Amino acid sequence: MEKRVFNFNPGPATLPLPVLEHAQAELLNYQNTGMSVMEMSHRSKDFEEIVFNTEALFKEISGVGDDYRILFLQGGASQQFALIPLNFLSPGKRGAYAITGNFAKKAYEEAQKIGETHVAVNTADNKYTKIPRQEELDIPADAAYLHITTNNTVYGTQWHYIPETNGVPLVADMSSDILSRPLDYKKFALFYAGAQKNLGPAGVVVVGISKKMLEKVPDTLPAIFNYNTLAKKNSLYNTPPTFGIYMLQLVLQWLKAQGGLEAMAKHNQEKAALIYEVIDRYDFYKGYAEKKSRSLMNVTFRLPAEELEQKFVQEAAEIGLVGLKGYRTVGGIRASIYNAMSRKGCETLASFMEDFAKKHS
Ligand SMILES: *Cc1c(COP(=O)(O)O)cnc(C)c1O
Repeated sequence: MEKRVFNFNPGPATLPLPVLEHAQAELLNYQNTGMSVMEMSHRSKDFEEIVFNTEALFKEISGVGDDYRILFLQGGASQQFALIPLNFLSPGKRGAYAITGNFAKKAYEEAQKIGETHVAVNTADNKYTKIPRQEELDIPADAAYLHITTNNTVYGTQWHYIPETNGVPLVADMSSDILSRPLDYKKFALFYAGAQKNLGPAGVVVVGISKKMLEKVPDTLPAIFNYNTLAKKNSLYNTPPTFGIYMLQLVLQWLKAQGGLEAMAKHNQEKAALIYEVIDRYDFYKGYAEKKSRSLMNVTFRLPAEELEQKFVQEAAEIGLVGLKGYRTVGGIRASIYNAMSRKGCETLASFMEDFAKKHS
């Protein structure tokens, strides 16, 4: 492959080209330190500055301000499935879960091993094709938290409202749509995201946590699992994923230069509309998610036959549209179009879809 492809992989996913070029330019010698960020002590002033800047930039873009701490940890979003109940499900407390997809279900199953849980809603009967309405949520008033997954990466559904919890702390896995749209992040007591979809390379997970929530963490937890310790040490309790954090900083700088969350939302809406429009215009395609619950990040759809889906994936790859195969439990096609996917990529895919439908219907 001589040139870069349009990469629709669900994660690790495409990164903004200017970010990669920036990293390339200072890969060997970071700002006259004579070394790469990868070779730098995490206790050095230069690296501490990267961590502080990245936290400040994240707070600025998300709008959470100083009532929150932003942590950069390892273990992926999956480790957070366990850390959240470990930190907040003290005996007698229960965690409520909205089970709206496979990662949401995993989060719930991990919590079950650690403490008491409660199912606020489960959309498995609808094959996870839709996001529940507020009235469908059963949130016990004494719950330690309600856990939701703001974007269901596998099924292609997305919450388009923030549920009202009447004082129960709201916790969210935002791995596949963090910083993709303006959102009142302060409504979430804790939010987290594996970086490899919308924020950077794999290996870093971002956790935003309110200071009020931090106060609830018991001292009895091992330090490495304790949000309070990790926050007090500014994510430098142990060696953090240094290069990943540096890349995350570059992505945040890029995002800000694009115009922040407002601009990102407009860009993402327009991109998704290009593809959904073709799905809706041709009977040949069948969108997986219910229309009102459609994700702007992962567009999922089926073709009339599996052989056609295979052919679709193969022919798309031949013209440089890669990573379109759907998740094994859903089948079909999934186009992951996170912040860094260009409009041109979505236009090229939409036009390929039109040609393909005309040729095969
Ligand atoms: C990808 C993904 C995960 C898993 O992330 P890891 O970093 O691999 O642990 C969890 N939740 C959601 C919503 C995801 O999209």
